[in-house]
Amino acid sequence: MLTKLEQVYEVLSCLPDPVFILSEKGDYIDLLGGTDTQSYHDGKALIGKTLHSVMSEDKANWFIGQIIDALDRNCVVTVEYDLAAAEVVGLDEHAGPAGILRFEGKIFPLSFMHNDDRVVCWLTRNISQRHQLEVQLRKQSETDGLTQIANRNYFFNRLSSITKHDVLHSLLLLDVDFFKQVNDTYGHLAGDQTLQEVVSRVQSLIRPIDIFARVGGEEFAIILPQSDDRSGYEVAERIRLAIANHPFSYKEHTFAITTSLGVTQIHQGEQNNEVFSRVDNALYLAKEQGRNRCVSLLK
Ligand code: GH3
Ligand code: MG
Ligand code: MG
Repeated sequence: MLTKLEQVYEVLSCLPDPVFILSEKGDYIDLLGGTDTQSYHDGKALIGKTLHSVMSEDKANWFIGQIIDALDRNCVVTVEYDLAAAEVVGLDEHAGPAGILRFEGKIFPLSFMHNDDRVVCWLTRNISQRHQLEVQLRKQSETDGLTQIANRNYFFNRLSSITKHDVLHSLLLLDVDFFKQVNDTYGHLAGDQTLQEVVSRVQSLIRPIDIFARVGGEEFAIILPQSDDRSGYEVAERIRLAIANHPFSYKEHTFAITTSLGVTQIHQGEQNNEVFSRVDNALYLAKEQGRNRCVSLLK
């Protein structure tokens, strides 16, 4: 017959998620639970060791920082972090889930001390699957389905964070000329493929740091960081020529596509609609002046 205390200890030992008892110096005082071997490596070998002796200094310092934060605030602190078994000396990386895992930690102060150091309970949960799904969903919510580049939502979020800082950024707005005719003449699929080809030609001319988004049906915006008006205009011209100078094709059809581009500079403190309507006006002028051209409009 188990005593009440023994029963409680057995319950804790059988918990699927690991519960670490850690000191503010980073001593692994004890480990309870962690019986779900699909989700966790056996961490028993860590007991008696210190965070600094089993992982990189950066990681150990981060863990200790969180422990001290929970102790100082005297409340439950919830954190999320990446950790692979290979990063922790003493864990058998082959006996448990592979690769970088995502964990949620709930850290809360305990009342007893260990060698005069304060102590916390660090409850761990492997949330890798949920995290992967979250990352996927976020990506989807920021991506245009047809072209796989950023969507309007993502673009305006980025634009508003850019205008908050000191900036030297050009903004380009590209619209395909007479695009309706492509759909009307060759069908909607030809139109879709044309948009994909426009995207791939633009992509070949911009840098990884540039932000390229589909902001409307046949309308695309490009933010060029570290670019003044002259270089913004030059990039716009290069894009225009890359599209106008080489024919497009769909099945047995070959046809020419042109684009009009508005160019402007983004200024610190501007509202999204202010900077966007300026580049839209530039695009409107390019259309009005005969299409297949770039027009720059400054504040
Ligand atoms: P403009 O030179 O003045 O820009 O003329 P336009 O024909 O390009 O402009 P308009 O706004 O009249 O037509 C845009 C067309 O784009 C109409 C719409 O059906 C088409 N469109 C919008 N989104 C898509 C899409 O995802 N796929 C296809 N195939 N067509 C699209
Ligand atoms: Mg158009
Ligand atoms: Mg349009």
